[in-house]
Amino acid sequence: MSQKGRRLYEGKAKILYEGPEPGTLVVHFKDDATAFNGEKFEVIEGKGVLNNRISEYIFTRLGEIGIPTAFIKRLNMREQLVRKVEIIPLEVIVRNVAAGSICKRLGLKEGEPLPRSIIEYCFKDDALGDPLVAEEHITAFNWATPRELDDIVQLTIRINDFLTGLFAGIGIRLVDFKIEFGREYMPDGMVRTVLADEISPDSCRLWDMKTGEKLDKDRFRRDMGGLVDAYTEVARRLGLINGNGSGGPHPKPKLVKG
Ligand code: UDP
Repeated sequence: MSQKGRRLYEGKAKILYEGPEPGTLVVHFKDDATAFNGEKFEVIEGKGVLNNRISEYIFTRLGEIGIPTAFIKRLNMREQLVRKVEIIPLEVIVRNVAAGSICKRLGLKEGEPLPRSIIEYCFKDDALGDPLVAEEHITAFNWATPRELDDIVQLTIRINDFLTGLFAGIGIRLVDFKIEFGREYMPDGMVRTVLADEISPDSCRLWDMKTGEKLDKDRFRRDMGGLVDAYTEVARRLGLINGNGSGGPHPKPKLVKG
């Protein structure tokens, strides 16, 4: 049931193809894992399937609360159909707890709660190593207009609030995550800012609330092993695979004892 057209672009973890209709794309999730701007590389069998499924679930839930997204539907184990958008060249990072690069930069201890959630931006440019930039740079260089940046901030706050609760409900702390936005050119000539790319354990830090165990790509970055088991555990707790019953789109909320 392949609906793919011409191959348009191959990224580090995904391949983009022309979709079956104009204005659509097919995204293929690879098993490739990279870190440190592509310096570290490994093929981890099963990762693409898990990320496709987890990202589908998260984008669907976000769509239900009114977040505009580029996601249309999952096509098969490794592919999803999305609306074609022009990617805004920013990695929008939300941090709830100190981890990763902010620890080095500001001398914080990993796991330290932040005084409040912090939004950071990196300019998407592999050759420059995705440098951290301020809102000033974004509007001065016209990577996004002030209106788009305003949309991005408002949407990002809602996404963080929703996802923090979603993961807390399954005993997982959402430490930080990265999202990307795109411009969707509507048939009526309007342009709207939509959530694009993926949200998966590749792009989030997810810690088990009880044990602190890492259920995300840090397992690969730090050579800890068990990445597929960890992503499978996230999918299982979200109710996406057998092991806690339904497998349906609405897993029953479970009480998390604190
Ligand atoms: N992140 C990502 N892609 C990137 C850089 C960061 O998905 O190119 C995610 C990363 O998984 C983490 C969050 O953004 O959940 C914050 O990452 P950080 O800036 O701490 O960089 P890292 O330590 O991952 O290099």
